[in-house]
Amino acid sequence: MHCPHCNQSVSVLSRAIRRAVRIKACPHCGGSVKVVFSWPVIAICFGPAVLLTLALRPWADSFASLPGVLAMLLLAMRLKSSE
Ligand SMILES: [Zn+2]
Repeated sequence: MHCPHCNQSVSVLSRAIRRAVRIKACPHCGGSVKVVFSWPVIAICFGPAVLLTLALRPWADSFASLPGVLAMLLLAMRLKSSE
């Protein structure tokens, strides 16, 4: 993900992102940003996520949908300016 203010890369796992789910500050420039989900990306990833779920079902059973859904959400996360 990239900061909308300074365009530097912000890790999904960075503390600033993990701390709160809504409004955060960029660790580089301090500009306030929020995480939004890109619906087109979710739409594109939905098929592969379903296929991954079906592929994992024999081993993971009820947890089979977790990796696909998590990957889909991570890929769809975008930073937007909250100002
Ligand atoms: Zn920034």
